[in-house]
Amino acid sequence: MSFFDKIKEYRKMLSQVERNIYGEKQEFLEIYERNQQLEREIEARTNELNIANKRMLTLQHIWDMMNSSTPLENVLEKVVNSIHGELGYMHCAIIRKLHDEKGDYMQIITQSKDSAIARVNRIIGIPIEARRLTYDPDGIYADTIKNKKIVQTKDLGGTLKYIMPDLPDEVAQAAVTNQPCKSLIIIPLCPMNKEFGWFCVFTSRDELAEAETDFLSLFAQQIEMSITITDLFLAVKQQAVTDSLTGLYNRRYFEESLKREVTRAQRQHQPFSIIGIDLDFLKKINDQYGHAYGDLAIKTVADVLKRNARSIDLPARMGGEEFNVLLPGIDSKGAMAAAERIRKAIELQELDMIGHITASIGVATFLEHSDNIEEILELTDQAMYQSKRNGRNQVTLAKPICETSWQEIAVNTFLEILSKHKIPIPNEIAENIKEKLQYKENSTEISKDTLFNVADILTSTYNPMHSQGIMKSKVLMATSLAKRFDLPKKDIDNLRIAMLLYDIGNLMLPPELLQKTTPLTEEEKQHIKEHPIIAAQEILKPISCVQDVIPIIEHHHENWDGTGYPQRLSHEDIPLTSQIILIVDAYFALIEHRPYRAKLTPKEALEVIKNDAGKKWNNALVQEFVTLTELDLV
Ligand code: GH3
Ligand code: MG
Repeated sequence: MSFFDKIKEYRKMLSQVERNIYGEKQEFLEIYERNQQLEREIEARTNELNIANKRMLTLQHIWDMMNSSTPLENVLEKVVNSIHGELGYMHCAIIRKLHDEKGDYMQIITQSKDSAIARVNRIIGIPIEARRLTYDPDGIYADTIKNKKIVQTKDLGGTLKYIMPDLPDEVAQAAVTNQPCKSLIIIPLCPMNKEFGWFCVFTSRDELAEAETDFLSLFAQQIEMSITITDLFLAVKQQAVTDSLTGLYNRRYFEESLKREVTRAQRQHQPFSIIGIDLDFLKKINDQYGHAYGDLAIKTVADVLKRNARSIDLPARMGGEEFNVLLPGIDSKGAMAAAERIRKAIELQELDMIGHITASIGVATFLEHSDNIEEILELTDQAMYQSKRNGRNQVTLAKPICETSWQEIAVNTFLEILSKHKIPIPNEIAENIKEKLQYKENSTEISKDTLFNVADILTSTYNPMHSQGIMKSKVLMATSLAKRFDLPKKDIDNLRIAMLLYDIGNLMLPPELLQKTTPLTEEEKQHIKEHPIIAAQEILKPISCVQDVIPIIEHHHENWDGTGYPQRLSHEDIPLTSQIILIVDAYFALIEHRPYRAKLTPKEALEVIKNDAGKKWNNALVQEFVTLTELDLV
């Protein structure tokens, strides 16, 4: 083979090798590319799987919540926070469509707490969740509901203006510029085909992928389901008739049964009784042994009530440590026997750790003590409190309303005012008063002086110039005056109670205002004039036994000529008892020292009163008043 041939041969071989190498390279490149593609695919699949997984987790989350008893707002709050956090949306909100007398409107009921919304709220001033948002029946929100369709919009500024038309354009614009949200996705929420509102999602993406639409629809369905379930849960809860701790009937069921019983009792002229039971010293049991033992005590009473009830009796837990038993067809004698049985049975129980417990009981009978059911409940309560005052662990029968003396009503009123903590007085004064008002052992009557004394103490807390003992003179004078006008006993009794209470609203005035020595501003004058009357009404309103006294107090600043307050009543429209308070109060104020003037002598005070005859008070009243005081003065 020639040299050239050899070279040719080599070249051929070289080309062959080259071809081979190239072929292999091609193959290698192909494999490499295939591998790369596979990797990309795997990554994409993994991502998809991850996202799917997150969606599953989120849905799982919601499913768990739907099965819990959390109220709707809490469920929805968790929903928005989970979708916001786990799927990377910039902001999520649930908006409710609402209606009131002004028409349809929208309100955010929950939203994710994030920097996006914090920023918007900073710019628009009043936070968006605190605003009443405008609902336009032709707008984008209404459309989504009408068409049951998800809508995406990039016009964030426009959407903001649309729900808050009052927002200045530049503020709306500032709120949506220079921030990462690019579009808003609005998903209608219509659980059980009711227009509930919208689920709104803010995203940094312009476009909405199909998979995302599917996911958001699915998500909205979950929200709708949780709304439906929460509604159902609430409805079921409201229909419950028993109390979960004790298994006794609850207050709602008791009250409904009571209504039926009243109708039956009236139709058949048959009585029924109510036994009211209050556990003694439960607070101590809670404090000493813990709440679980307090609960044990409550359950023990409940068990006793269940065991002692006839099949037609209805024992109920009214709340806390308060129980009632309704005894159809039973008069007070029978009810007292039943109550005593219950009291003994409670006392006999031996509880783990606590030992023995006791209860205070009150009994009242419909048609015997009153034919008004509200009054019966009140009398049961009063009788129960009487048992507490007499030393607890006992049964007391209610007294018919007319047998309750005015002193008793006054005592009960003071005690109720103190126990309801409506008036701001120092604890030691409250305790001192309570102690004075406790009935003495074996005595049913409290001394009248105790009452006057208590009223004096209360007056002194807002008027340090008040002289002790004045209250008694005031009440006696008012009573004598009323007797001169032949007022019925009931009116005189109400007047006596009103005399003790008419200024109780002063306890609600700021002391610095009452003690002010410099002239009062118009506003302060108005406050001092009207506030105490309003306060007295407020304090006394919940106390049923003094309802007849409230109007007397309400009008004790009306002038005969119609220039008084609060209602500018005149002449006979003003209750005479109110006029009596006005004149007696004025007289005693005049003879007392005040920060802004010296005290007058009784004679000088009478002159002032005579001067106002026909203006502040009627002439006949002044005449009687003058004769009465002059009798005292000579
Ligand atoms: P009294 O003899 O004057 O009735 O005294 P008391 O301590 O029983 O009454 P008070 O009204 O001062 O306190 C009632 C307490 O009962 C306060 C409250 O925390 C407690 N209580 C109310 N409901 C429950 C309950 O369901 N479980 C428990 N453990 N305690 C309760
Ligand atoms: Mg109690």
